[in-house]
Amino acid sequence: MKKKIFLLYGGKSAEHEVSIRTAFAVTQALNFEKYEVTPIYITEAGQWVKREALENPVKQIGELRLDRQKSTTTSPALFIGDSIEKMDEPGIIFPLLHGPNGEDGTVQGMLEVLNLPYVGNGVLASAAGMDKVIMKNLFRDAGLNQVDYVSVLRHEWENDAVASYEKVEKALDYPCFVKPANLGSSVGISKCKNREELVRAFQEAFQFDRKIIIEQGVEAREIEIGVLGNDQPICSVAGEIVPKTEFYDYRAKYEDGDTALVIPADVSEEIYETIKEMAITAFKALDCSGLVRADFFVAKEGKVLINEINTMPGFTPVSMFPLLWKHSGLDYPELIDRLIELGFERYEEKQ
Ligand code: ATP
Ligand code: MG
Ligand code: MG
Ligand code: MG
Repeated sequence: MKKKIFLLYGGKSAEHEVSIRTAFAVTQALNFEKYEVTPIYITEAGQWVKREALENPVKQIGELRLDRQKSTTTSPALFIGDSIEKMDEPGIIFPLLHGPNGEDGTVQGMLEVLNLPYVGNGVLASAAGMDKVIMKNLFRDAGLNQVDYVSVLRHEWENDAVASYEKVEKALDYPCFVKPANLGSSVGISKCKNREELVRAFQEAFQFDRKIIIEQGVEAREIEIGVLGNDQPICSVAGEIVPKTEFYDYRAKYEDGDTALVIPADVSEEIYETIKEMAITAFKALDCSGLVRADFFVAKEGKVLINEINTMPGFTPVSMFPLLWKHSGLDYPELIDRLIELGFERYEEKQ
């Protein structure tokens, strides 16, 4: 009998469009002899819409831009509960959502309450991984090497902006990176070389979040690795990102296509081993399950720093995470199968 897969995509987040592209790619890769797929689109306003089939993402994003808000409303919980109740075979939810309201544990919490199996990380890992400040605090506790950082709340900055800038300048040197605490795809991130740029970067980042993180900038190669599993996670080969822009920003990720992904990364066996070990430590520090893409900086002297983990990394067939697994012997459809298996396993373990 076919397994039912409910793809959740879109979502109330700045990474909405990325998610649409991902869902389209996953639908095309899912084996229709094995799976019965129901796409569930979440609008930018947070409303849930069931679709018969996924449309071409270019078309869908085009319509979305023309018509940002309109859609039919359904209560998400009722919607999913109702669909699942009618299932004769256990189904699984596959949240292909990035950023807040999807990758951050909120959707995962709803699925837990409804007692439904789902793919990927649970509530705690998703929430901790979404907030870069909390994530880095946990990495510090786990003894992982990383850049220095400070965090500022919007209300502190509104009360005394100069004090906020001074807090940054006291703790870090230029260049530094300013980021919304809860986001991804480089949205709202700026590199700053002086106070003037810092001021602009604060204004930008606070448009996306009430909390921001400011990190010491490092000059380093960017190496990423995939982690897959539940209690016994394994690592993929490593990959390197070679951006042509000043840093790996949103355009470089999704629009310009010029960024080179080098897989496997040309690093020494020793560095690869260090990265693997740190990735597993990070996976365990946040109690992850299913999948993670761990991002690292490797400085000239070979010093390895962890930058972040992503609990729902970019997942189109040309994204880093699937490519890393492809080079490790798991192609895109096999990777999807494995993630579904891991989701069911974790669910059964909890019953
Ligand atoms: P994603 O989730 O898509 O990987 P993100 O929005 O979580 O991205 P980061 O990975 O933290 O953002 O940063 C985006 C990019 O900015 C990095 O890939 C790197 O190019 C650059 N960058 C971020 N932080 C630093 C830093 N401290 N020093 C040097 N470069 C940095
Ligand atoms: Mg990220
Ligand atoms: Mg991300
Ligand atoms: Mg990153």
